[in-house]
Amino acid sequence: MSDLYDIIIIGGGINGCSLARQAAEQGFRVALLEKDDFGAGVTSRSTRLIHGGLRYLESFQFGVVKESLHDRRAWLEEFPGIVDPQPFVIPVYKEDSRPAWYIYTGLKLYGMLSRDAELGTCQRISAGEVEHLEPGLDRKNLKAAFRYFDCQATYPEKLCVEMALRTETAGGTVRNHTPVTGFLREGSRVVGVKCGDEEFRGKLVVNAAGAWVDEVRTLLSPENKSHPVLSRLNGAHIIARPFPGAPQNAVYHEARSDKRPFFIVPWRRLYLIGTTETPYDGDPDRVMPTEPEIDYLLSEFDQLFPHTTLKREDLCYAYAGSRPLVRANSSNMNKASRGHGVYDHEAEEGIPGLLSMVGGKLTTARSFAAETMTAAATKLGIPNPGPLAIAPGRSYTADDRLAELYGGRAREIDLLIEQDPDTMMKPAAPGAPATVAEVLYSVQREKARTLGDILLRRTGLAYEADYDSDWPQAIAETVAGPLQWDSSATAQAVADFESELERTLIRL
Ligand SMILES: Cc1cc2nc3c(=O)[nH]c(=O)nc-3n(C[C@H](O)[C@H](O)[C@H](O)COP(=O)(O)OP(=O)(O)OC[C@H]3O[C@@H](n4cnc5c(N)ncnc54)[C@H](O)[C@@H]3O)c2cc1C
Repeated sequence: MSDLYDIIIIGGGINGCSLARQAAEQGFRVALLEKDDFGAGVTSRSTRLIHGGLRYLESFQFGVVKESLHDRRAWLEEFPGIVDPQPFVIPVYKEDSRPAWYIYTGLKLYGMLSRDAELGTCQRISAGEVEHLEPGLDRKNLKAAFRYFDCQATYPEKLCVEMALRTETAGGTVRNHTPVTGFLREGSRVVGVKCGDEEFRGKLVVNAAGAWVDEVRTLLSPENKSHPVLSRLNGAHIIARPFPGAPQNAVYHEARSDKRPFFIVPWRRLYLIGTTETPYDGDPDRVMPTEPEIDYLLSEFDQLFPHTTLKREDLCYAYAGSRPLVRANSSNMNKASRGHGVYDHEAEEGIPGLLSMVGGKLTTARSFAAETMTAAATKLGIPNPGPLAIAPGRSYTADDRLAELYGGRAREIDLLIEQDPDTMMKPAAPGAPATVAEVLYSVQREKARTLGDILLRRTGLAYEADYDSDWPQAIAETVAGPLQWDSSATAQAVADFESELERTLIRL
């Protein structure tokens, strides 16, 4: 007889991991099942900003902004280092669709709603100061500029890992590389899931499969394919090496060609430039940046930053992801106006035992988890446990790179190094900024099972500007022992990683 879980969660992105962590810490028996790796889905393809949703003010959604700002503060306090304050500059030009007074009023309101002494400030910057602060920025027809704060999650993948580990610490079952392949049914009721030959039984299943929510729904019934609850909008980013005139702050402006939001964000000593919005109804596993998207981003950058020398040769790579959006005609989805909603399969399709988390952003994953727990409690016939209290995390200041990847957990890497400095301090591969300690830690403590887990989502090595294609082999040799890979498994792991890398980044 297998364990009976209270809640089985399908999908280990930011939403599934937030829900798993909350449910486990509130005493529920939880299983979190991820087909690939924690954060490997859309979560790792985002602009990596934790923001209050300044744009929602235009549609008077003050409650949504307040909630997002509350979540922003919670992320910052719980995961210092992985989430950090990020100063932004908004330049305003004569031809822009929103005048300077309008932006200023919005920013003031944004600060007030945040009630955040650290992040709630905003300043107007004179043209002279702009020239000094952001010398690369276009100054023709510049009417004003404003500086304010949001936050950056340098590695939202690591937020997922952190929450998966917390779920486990609280007694949950947490599995990556475990695709859900079908549902267990008793009559119309969902009573669990199948992962190949393995079965997980539970009182409630939550489909938190992000951009794959409809693919998971089709495991219930192929007919669901023609009644999607999601629409998908692809977004691409290009990543540039440092270049003369590069911004010191993140810069947020409307794209000149189509007025869509456009960002240039300093990220890991590189620059993230995005994003596009391309409707998509293809396979969410096959989302890659297209040439027109790369051209669009470069052209928008050139117009906004004419006093810089960024050329295509300065770009390292590009990546893309598919935003999971609540489909406009989806009914019975509470809170859909917030950009996310809980889809109740019992109310919609007569299938008890199953909820789906539809849509959502990185920023609001905490609130979305709390809303889903409220719906789950009703289904389980128990009192609503309410949201989790913020549990402030410890910061780590000894090394920027370690702090942004591991937050307070970086001390555990230091301890590993202290135990055997000669081995652990060595670079993970010649020229790599990570140490052997990090690589072994990823396998021993962070549930890394593949080279993709290690190079893309634990150490970030595959995102380095100077990434070297010899690194995977060297790292494979280091982890072959702990992962019990013989020589043929090691060669296969390197080949699998190369193919994963090709599906993840386009090197430019
Ligand atoms: C270009 C772009 C920029 C963005 N920028 C921001 C931003 O700056 N700030 C912000 O707040 N939000 C941003 N977002 C939105 C945000 O990234 C997503 O809404 C969020 O990451 C969705 O998280 P998720 O957990 O729902 O989905 P995912 O991260 O995709 O997680 C779903 C998981 O389910 C797994 N899965 C699928 N099928 C199965 C199965 N059968 N069995 C088991 N597991 C399965 C997948 O492997 C995946 O890991 C952006 C999105 C895009 C595309």
